[in-house]
Amino acid sequence: MIKENLKIVEKNIEEACKKAGRDRKEVTLIAVSKTKPVSDIREAMSCGITVFGENKVQEIRDKTAEIKEPLSWHMIGHLQANKVKYLPGVACMIHSVDNRKLADEIEKQAAKHDLVMDVLIEVNMAGEDTKFGLAPEAVKDFVKEISELKHLRIRGLMTIAPYTTEPESNRQYFRGLRQLKDEINALNIEGVSMDTLSMGMTGDYQIAIEEGATFVRVGTGIFGERDYSQK
Ligand SMILES: *Cc1c(COP(=O)(O)O)cnc(C)c1O
Repeated sequence: MIKENLKIVEKNIEEACKKAGRDRKEVTLIAVSKTKPVSDIREAMSCGITVFGENKVQEIRDKTAEIKEPLSWHMIGHLQANKVKYLPGVACMIHSVDNRKLADEIEKQAAKHDLVMDVLIEVNMAGEDTKFGLAPEAVKDFVKEISELKHLRIRGLMTIAPYTTEPESNRQYFRGLRQLKDEINALNIEGVSMDTLSMGMTGDYQIAIEEGATFVRVGTGIFGERDYSQK
């Protein structure tokens, strides 16, 4: 099933790239494996997938302890500062930076490991109460503020668009995120040059690609529905 799903997702990505006049290589598919067993991840790996996304630190730790092949693991979920210490050397990117305390802790832990952590700033484009992320108006000042942290590399922006059965309705948020990235780049903040937009999930990744996504995060579309009942 995963194999067939991946074929469909790949075809959709290619179509969206074509429609937008983009090179397929500009878009990286993150296979969101949260709640799914290692056997599912191995099946995706056998289809050539090497980039995975998880939203819980413990789950990334468990899975990377078991799977020794070189893969890229992205931390895409809300992150508490006290869990950051487990991520250097394990996650290649953190997509959910939205407050100073978290940024400071990433700085501290990355410095301890003598590495620079790639991060994205999470933006709550639709202003949903239920979602994390900064309000779009707050992002520029936040980026300026944390640009002084030398062990963080701000690679770009991430958003989780509203859940909808009408993906076209999320286009405005994806377009807004891209504009925000361009505006921030135009400010020429020292040490900040954003090249990454993490946007689009199973319901809307084609639209996100048309609007400039460089990472799409697809879970259900690859691995099927998640079952949270046992957790
Ligand atoms: C779960 C999750 C996804 C994947 O969602 P699907 O709708 O299953 O594709 C993407 N991004 C984040 C941040 C998630 O938590």
